[in-house]
Amino acid sequence: MLKGIGASDGIGIGRVMIIAEQTLEYTPREIADVDAELERFRGAVDKFCDNTIAQADAIRQSTGEKEAEILMGHIAIIRDPFMGGEIENIIKANQCAEAAVDQICKMFIDMFSATGDDLTMQRAADVRDIRDGILAILLGIEEVKISDAPAGTVLVTKELTPSMTAGIKRENVVGIITETGSQTSHSAILARALEIPAVLSVPGAVTSLSSDELVIVDGGKGEVYTAPTEEQVGEYTAKRETFLRERRELESLRGKPTVSADGIEYELFCNIGTPKDATKAVEADGEGVGLFRTEFLFMDRNQLPTEDEQFDAYKQASLILKGKPLIIRTLDIGGDKEIPYLGLAKEENPFMGFRAIRYCLKNRAMFKSQIKAILRASAFGDIRIMFPLITAVEELREGRALVEEAKADLRASDIAFDENIQVGVMTETAASGVIADLLAKEADFFSIGTNDLTGYTMAADRGNSDVSYLYSPLQPSVLRMIRRIIKCANAEGIPVGMCGEAAASPEMIPLLISFGLTEFSVSAPSVLKVRKNISKWTKAEADEIAGKVMAMTTEAEVKAYLETVV
Ligand code: PEP
Ligand code: MG
Repeated sequence: MLKGIGASDGIGIGRVMIIAEQTLEYTPREIADVDAELERFRGAVDKFCDNTIAQADAIRQSTGEKEAEILMGHIAIIRDPFMGGEIENIIKANQCAEAAVDQICKMFIDMFSATGDDLTMQRAADVRDIRDGILAILLGIEEVKISDAPAGTVLVTKELTPSMTAGIKRENVVGIITETGSQTSHSAILARALEIPAVLSVPGAVTSLSSDELVIVDGGKGEVYTAPTEEQVGEYTAKRETFLRERRELESLRGKPTVSADGIEYELFCNIGTPKDATKAVEADGEGVGLFRTEFLFMDRNQLPTEDEQFDAYKQASLILKGKPLIIRTLDIGGDKEIPYLGLAKEENPFMGFRAIRYCLKNRAMFKSQIKAILRASAFGDIRIMFPLITAVEELREGRALVEEAKADLRASDIAFDENIQVGVMTETAASGVIADLLAKEADFFSIGTNDLTGYTMAADRGNSDVSYLYSPLQPSVLRMIRRIIKCANAEGIPVGMCGEAAASPEMIPLLISFGLTEFSVSAPSVLKVRKNISKWTKAEADEIAGKVMAMTTEAEVKAYLETVV
């Protein structure tokens, strides 16, 4: 078995077609007629752009606009005056077009590859694709015809470039295996868009696999089975059928409301970390954003983001959501989330220390600038504010007072904002669970952060494997906390959501329905699965399950029971 990164879910069973790298060898030579060589280069770029437009059209038909844009991005890169200008400068110094293209593209590839950042490294793959395309034109080499791949083909290549992907006929290609690429590389994005199972970053795939051999590609697990037995082929054929059936079922839920089997409607939101993720939330059919973790804005930089920078980010996310709710959590630093330039003192016990709302309330200028940025963005959509790590009513009051101060400042400067902006509490500490009755009287909504609530209730660090046996939201103590928080919110008539990972857990869903949760906020890929799981239960069935669970004494009992009913 070969192991790689599972980049596009599903099972593919088929015969290998190796896409060998083209040998784009050339002999560097001095040229005498610079103008003619410049013409040759420009002609090659024009042809490359024409080919790319044709490929993008093909991808637009087979896959979609967004995927076509990846290819159209190549035109923007090669038409970039700086890059083109640098290439032409080398030609003007009497070098041949091949050498000029190769040299400048290599410079960009090295520069992008060195960053270690996934997105920028993707640019390196794009430039490599451009270089190969232009060199092939200059050298008069025909491109490999992936479009000729017969039915049942598993493509094996060093790197799946966007232009290769354009040739893929999804009815013929059942799997993709590459030697490079990550979850977020363009090849992964395209494979997912084409719904072709893909395993990327399999070391030596091109040399260790041979043309025409039978393989099984498990794109979910990131596994490739070579020389499979008949039994394995049977097993994976059945798995493929199940996978495809489930995918069809899930897709049928797209655009539908989130309702239980007896018609109770729920809100199903997404958790995001950047404004761009808002697009993923929309594409995943999320009905809004239940948790925008704003830490990203403060990380990977050397100083605090300005109010304007934050405003732009929040506004951008809100515009992408087109009026759907956006719950923005104020800065939640400390604990496992470090921001070096803030110079936080080393603490004996950072998870119980000076962090999140505690830090923000003591650094009021910084906090107020974040709140003002959120308020200003609230003029552009349905934005709500949420405070993390609340443990006492005073923290909520102080936070709210600061919101009022920020509002007064904006009013004085005639800047628009939502006067009725909702201010909620993330209930993720044991204290907030215990005083949920008091907090519910002063908060506009709750969102239960089970990732931390589990840790703080069980006094078990969420990252420590030695105590992971205690870290479970199905512990009777954590379940009682969750039930209490929901009941207290229900009693005061305020909405109560869950944005911790447990919201997507199939075992937890009937319990949450029974307790009275009103909103689920999950990662984008989980949206349709959660909608499906919610649709399975009536309130009466959920109550029966919850009744039994809440009478149990240990986590093991709860888990074992839920596994039999879910
Ligand atoms: C949580 O604690 O459950 C949560 C959603 O927030 P984070 O994971 O960002 O701490
Ligand atoms: Mg948390």
